[in-house]
Amino acid sequence: MQTPQPEYVVPVVAHRLFGRNYPDIRIEAGFPDEDDIISGEPRPGFVVRGTIGENPPVIDHSRGTQRSWQEIDAMFTAAPEVDGTDGSTVNDLWADTGIRFELVEKTDTPISSAMAQHLSPDTAIVNSLLRPVGREGVINLYFARRINGAWGFARPYYPARAGHIPIATIADLRDRSENPDTQWKHSLITLAHEFGHVLGLGHVAFDENIMYGHGTLLGSLKLDQPQAAICRNRAAYLSGAVSPPASRRAPRM
Ligand SMILES: [Zn+2]
Repeated sequence: MQTPQPEYVVPVVAHRLFGRNYPDIRIEAGFPDEDDIISGEPRPGFVVRGTIGENPPVIDHSRGTQRSWQEIDAMFTAAPEVDGTDGSTVNDLWADTGIRFELVEKTDTPISSAMAQHLSPDTAIVNSLLRPVGREGVINLYFARRINGAWGFARPYYPARAGHIPIATIADLRDRSENPDTQWKHSLITLAHEFGHVLGLGHVAFDENIMYGHGTLLGSLKLDQPQAAICRNRAAYLSGAVSPPASRRAPRM
């Protein structure tokens, strides 16, 4: 079967989330300064030496996602030669919708080591850690080692809201399946599912659909035409084919 020309190409910026070390900070066992003395007795404990910000923090690649850029590229453009991949892509799953996702930029982003290891979908975390490093007008895709209670999560794209940052996230899934042969497919289905959320889809109850709500299954390999129509509507803005509505409001602070 010949793949039809996609109507809309949606740009994606990939952010690998890593931990962060502060080179100027040392934590030593010892006694605090004299003004920390309570009732004349020195209080034993730990002393933090140095100041955050004298030297910029350095990325700690041992914390956070273990995915390579080759592997992430292969999620969008077939590369069967890359270890752990099988030549299929997220765009295969979206082929019938008239929408293609294209990786336009790749960046390594240090956040808190704990969050890079185990990302939380809490709104406070999304607003304080993910939105500030995200871009307008693209889907920001964040890679973390694990995600609280999920394999991924997403925030829908609102074309009418100025300053809006569309967000999708995905966990490494290394220990999700005992069968290494299905891990690549699981990753792609999770990605396809989260992109569906970004482009306006909610969950559905039938398990043969990518937007099945009780976890994506290997059999969940398609989107229906009404779902594709909803997604094309938002993809039109992200692809640049259509300008956002004139009623764009100022971002809420
Ligand atoms: Zn979902």
